[in-house]
Amino acid sequence: MIQTIGVIGGGQLGRMLALDAKRMGFFVIVLDPQEHSPGGQVADRQIVAAYDDMKAIDELGAATDLVTYEFENIAIESVRRLEHRGYRVTPSSDVLRITQDRLLEKRFVRECGIPTAEFAAVESLLDVERAASAVGFPAILKTARGGYDGKGQCRVESLAQAQAAFTEAKGATLIWERLVSFACEISVVATRAAGDEVITYPAGENQHDRGILATTIAPARVDEEIARRARGMASIIGRKLGIVGTYCVEFFVTPEGEVLVNEIAPRPHNSGHYTMDVTQCSQYEQHVRAICGLPLAAPRLYANAIMMNVLGTGTGDRLDGLPELLSDPSIVLHLYGKKHAVDRRKMGHFTIVLDGPVDGPALQRAREAHAKLRWV
Ligand code: AMP
Repeated sequence: MIQTIGVIGGGQLGRMLALDAKRMGFFVIVLDPQEHSPGGQVADRQIVAAYDDMKAIDELGAATDLVTYEFENIAIESVRRLEHRGYRVTPSSDVLRITQDRLLEKRFVRECGIPTAEFAAVESLLDVERAASAVGFPAILKTARGGYDGKGQCRVESLAQAQAAFTEAKGATLIWERLVSFACEISVVATRAAGDEVITYPAGENQHDRGILATTIAPARVDEEIARRARGMASIIGRKLGIVGTYCVEFFVTPEGEVLVNEIAPRPHNSGHYTMDVTQCSQYEQHVRAICGLPLAAPRLYANAIMMNVLGTGTGDRLDGLPELLSDPSIVLHLYGKKHAVDRRKMGHFTIVLDGPVDGPALQRAREAHAKLRWV
């Protein structure tokens, strides 16, 4: 029986995972290099160590019944080490290997028969020339590994710009992606249980600001058929990956109604935060249920929602405007307990639980609510 869950990573996702696991009666141990991390603050215990500190990984494995992780950019060796030592860890290192590398991930998605943006691998200046003619411009060059929240990405319009971007990347393998002129971006948060059951939440519609998620609208304002197709693709991907736990698939929807996969995250996702406030079972609880072998819950929405991220601005660490924000009784606030509101750091989010549809006035209300907050 699982009593104690280990979580590699003590950021906001680890925190919300720990909170749900605690509510369900589990003990939680978080491993994170930063003392008093957001996850560590709410867990029973935190091991303060780097994600690739093998002594600490062994300690986590020995002290828990099962280990999971909140972030795919951890050292794969840590997950392999746990597997080799016979500790239970999920998702597996096979899932992590694919989802850590944008090239492997895109090839995997194509093998599932699911479309993505046109892409090519770039490892040399010759590859740059080849991709320029085979895939073309405008393009986005991304580091194959290690990038998130728009980090390690560069938009290029010409061969000269692409060559400069390649040189700048200092030998890192890149993926050359054709820029998709999308009508909107959506994502599907899903959970797969070990017995192959998959639940998918309704698609959310995501708006980004310079590569970082700013807003999720749930459900996405797309044709039902498009949402159904995206949920179907997310199920296929989860099954083919053999993942156990919550994951997220991000998509571009083109003006012609094409649905292209952009990315897979093998963990709960920022665009699924809304599930905490408008469903009976959040993406975090579903993850706990899946990894502990418990039945999954229905992913039904009780209300429509708008989720807005609260990012740091580098202007101070105290959040001003909370009384004004919370004067709207339909707002649920989540802050992550991070000390310093560094510019563009994810510090918290809020959800507006709507009585009616997601329409212009609802979105205006969300924008006005967001404008009440300032870091001072
Ligand atoms: P990613 O880290 O790949 O999720 O990229 C972050 C954001 O950059 C995406 O959510 C899009 O807004 C934008 N983006 C990334 N790749 C593309 C692409 N091939 N075409 C258009 N926009 C993109």
